Amino acid sequence: MAPITKETDFLVIGGGSGGLGAARMAASQFGVKAMIVEAQRLGGTCVNVGCVPKKVTFNAATIAETIHQARDYGFSLQETAPFDWPTFKKKRDAYIERLNGIYERNLNKDSVEYLHGWAKLKSRSEVEVSLDDGTTALVRAKKILVAVGGKPSPPPADIEGASEYAMNSDDFFDIEKLPERVAIVGAGYIAVEFAGMFKSFGVDVHLFLRYDNALRKGFDPMISESLTKEYERIGIKVHRFSEQQKLAKDEKTGKFTLHFSEGTAEEGKKEGQVLEGIDHVIWAIGRTALTRDIGLEEVGVEFIDGTDYIKADDFQNTNVRDIYALGDVVGKAELTPVAIAAGRKLAYRLFGGEKFKDTRLDYENIPSVVFSHPTIGSIGMSQPEAEEKYGKENVKIYQSSFVNMWYAMMTSEDKAPTKYKLVCAGPEEKVVGLHIFGMGSDEILQGFGVAIKMGATKKDFDSCVAIHPTASEELVTMR
Ligand SMILES: Cc1cc2nc3c(=O)[nH]c(=O)nc-3n(C[C@H](O)[C@H](O)[C@H](O)COP(=O)(O)OP(=O)(O)OC[C@H]3O[C@@H](n4cnc5c(N)ncnc54)[C@H](O)[C@@H]3O)c2cc1C
Repeated sequence: MAPITKETDFLVIGGGSGGLGAARMAASQFGVKAMIVEAQRLGGTCVNVGCVPKKVTFNAATIAETIHQARDYGFSLQETAPFDWPTFKKKRDAYIERLNGIYERNLNKDSVEYLHGWAKLKSRSEVEVSLDDGTTALVRAKKILVAVGGKPSPPPADIEGASEYAMNSDDFFDIEKLPERVAIVGAGYIAVEFAGMFKSFGVDVHLFLRYDNALRKGFDPMISESLTKEYERIGIKVHRFSEQQKLAKDEKTGKFTLHFSEGTAEEGKKEGQVLEGIDHVIWAIGRTALTRDIGLEEVGVEFIDGTDYIKADDFQNTNVRDIYALGDVVGKAELTPVAIAAGRKLAYRLFGGEKFKDTRLDYENIPSVVFSHPTIGSIGMSQPEAEEKYGKENVKIYQSSFVNMWYAMMTSEDKAPTKYKLVCAGPEEKVVGLHIFGMGSDEILQGFGVAIKMGATKKDFDSCVAIHPTASEELVTMR
């Protein structure tokens, strides 16, 4: 059957954070004839297998912790049953489904045409969409935005059994019952968030790191060292300098056995280690952009050397005229608000006329948070980055380490640390980096993000009167 043909002014491939942001803004703000193609569920990674279900699970984990801590405040709480994961999961899934519906209604409201199917570029202005009913649509578009996001990177093929038995971060959200023991391979924010949540629910958690600390890439050393130490303190088994050799399944029990080596600088490498009785082994070692096999190479779109990331300039232009790329596919600050902001700004630039011709997202000083236990907030340069850029002698560090008053009523082993660091540069002590580790960091960071974006100096911080008693007051009283 010949494909049906459609025409549009702005075709967006990928109905995730970035794609929705761009298509809706183009249509609602500028009356552009826009169309979006999504192969799976509207909302993309964030809504379906990322930020949203993760945060809801984090909230449940926080409640679990609070119930435990409430006793120290004099509450006689008794847990009569373990956390009801199946009921929680059902409610979480229903919430996500509601959101999928809201996203579809929003597209309708903004008059964005929505095709559910898999898109592939046929030429610089034509995209073929394989629709659910087995037919295809050929869409001719004046402008095309590629915002197809990414997927979890698979375990290395040479680890026996890993491709077969390991889960990835998407699968985390399909777990039907609370496990007893999990192994998480990875050191990035997704790995440590999962580890922290499982631990709060009382699961025996093993975290396998390639090096000595988690969160080494892109975080200040204070953050990565403090988090790894705290995870060990709360009972997560951290396996440093680990390498996995084999993952096997016991067909009778359904449990897994992981064969690995690990080590420390002092003790050297320990070969032949075995961890048995694991319910789930989750590989969380990064993500890969979904940019292959969708016709990009054929139409001449360039990639960043040696990667699956699309080469895009500061204005989200690819090297091919009228083809744009943003969000996780461009490999810069892979976060939902970044994708949304880049999408909206692109819509302004492309369709807003002369006034918005230079509009673009500023990728500098993007705040980011890790929903670990406790949480982390980071913006700007780490201490090593600042020292490299400005010279050690021109960088001044302010640090504070204390126990949040939340723990005042608790026994010593229940007290999580709080650690703050300001990285200041030059004689005016401009705050070029802010790194916070401790309860509430996720909520504290946003306001300080505004200050840093405005170019605040240490003096500006000091001129703001503290709010007492809070943890964040430490950030304006550091010496
Ligand atoms: C476990 C996890 C937790 C996260 N937590 C956070 C967080 O707390 N905060 C935060 O800011 N970010 C978080 N992120 C990152 C965030 O989800 C992504 O940065 C964001 O979703 C990127 O948006 P995007 O539009 O680039 O891609 P996506 O949201 O991934 O959307 C791309 C869409 O394109 C579709 N698609 C792909 N190929 C095709 C095709 N050929 N045809 C049609 N459709 C296609 C996909 O199905 C997908 O729906 C998390 C990610 C993960 C995995």
